[in-house]
Amino acid sequence: MARIVVKFGGTSVGDPKRIENAAEKIYQEIKRGHEVVVVVSAMAGVTNQLVDYCHQITPDHTAEEYDMVVASGEQVTSGLMAIALHKRGIEARSFAGWQVPLICSDQHGRARIDDIPPENLEQALSSKIVPVVAGFQGVSRSNRISTLGRGGSDTTAVALAAALNADRCDIYTDVDGVYTTDPRMVPDAQKLDLVSYEEMLEMAALGAKVLHPRSVELAMAYNVSLQVLSSFAPQVGSQLPGTLIVSEDKIMEKQIVNGVAFTRNEAKISILGIPDSPGTAAAIFDPLCAADINVDVIVQNISANGSTADMTFTVPKLDAQKTVEILEKLPFAQQSQIRIDTKIAKISIIGIGMSSHSGVARTMFRTLADHRINIQAITTSEIKISVLIDEQFTEAAVKALHQAFELGKTDMRATGS
Ligand code: ASP
Ligand code: MG
Repeated sequence: MARIVVKFGGTSVGDPKRIENAAEKIYQEIKRGHEVVVVVSAMAGVTNQLVDYCHQITPDHTAEEYDMVVASGEQVTSGLMAIALHKRGIEARSFAGWQVPLICSDQHGRARIDDIPPENLEQALSSKIVPVVAGFQGVSRSNRISTLGRGGSDTTAVALAAALNADRCDIYTDVDGVYTTDPRMVPDAQKLDLVSYEEMLEMAALGAKVLHPRSVELAMAYNVSLQVLSSFAPQVGSQLPGTLIVSEDKIMEKQIVNGVAFTRNEAKISILGIPDSPGTAAAIFDPLCAADINVDVIVQNISANGSTADMTFTVPKLDAQKTVEILEKLPFAQQSQIRIDTKIAKISIIGIGMSSHSGVARTMFRTLADHRINIQAITTSEIKISVLIDEQFTEAAVKALHQAFELGKTDMRATGS
């Protein structure tokens, strides 16, 4: 018997029929002898609607009352799910965040989980009652309802799996796993059976939206085995049909490259002719940080004349204009030139085996060269190489790299026997 936390996302509980479909999965797992804790999202579209109601009254609403409103979506689903389980003869009960209790910080709208005393849920489980927990919400120490940020139900599920020492956390969604790249762009993309936490974090940060990045961080910190799987496929989680996300040491054969990720949501900002002296980078990035602008890819060239240098970095496209305004206020702005390019894409290859293999960068650069795609900037980590290119070549680059690293269904795997 395994203890499994199962979480159903918005589309998987989008209407009463789908809630019954999810209840059927839970029933199947219980019949197999497993102990199940359920976490649910709001029904698809409900949270957006609730957010919109707050804005209709005034965009100036307090974060406390916003949380009270938007947390209600999950509460509805938890009750409906408990009813659907009762209909199948299963003893179940709903839990709002405060009833668990899931204690979180009072940063409303983006609260962090501080503690989950497990006693109430353990007591339900030992009485053979299936707890159905409303995701996304908790209670602050000042006794107010808080929410964890959009997409936060994944984080609730992983946190509960950690607090209850579950064997696995299954995230049921509308895709059947994590893919080598976006299958809408590359039909040959394959579902991955195993991905490491580190790889998943890179993929999630790059827009593989299947999991809330915080849930992956939490899974990594507490070593929770996470599975992403479809609620619309016939199998249940204990048949392991989805993508398992586990620690690197559980992966015997590490793929050199496991996926190709891309994003077109960033803009490239360059500031040319800045002083080549201590404190310049800090002067640039301090105000950006204060404005909560997330900076990625940072490249500074070597000074050619010994007195000035050039800096290039990326920011989310939405923040590009604000970034330029901040740079224009720098003390050295007059002597430097600011350039902005919103027509770029960042393409990354990701794989934990990369750190112990040479030649990966070479293959990437050669492939792009063969397709006459110019590389504007390069950054690397132990398990990732990212390049910035002209946005119009996104698809060509992703397809070419996917093939070069033999990631497709019809390609031979790059590693393996
Ligand atoms: N219902 C919340 C949202 O739409 C939380 C979640 O579904 O994970 O953001
Ligand atoms: Mg989600």
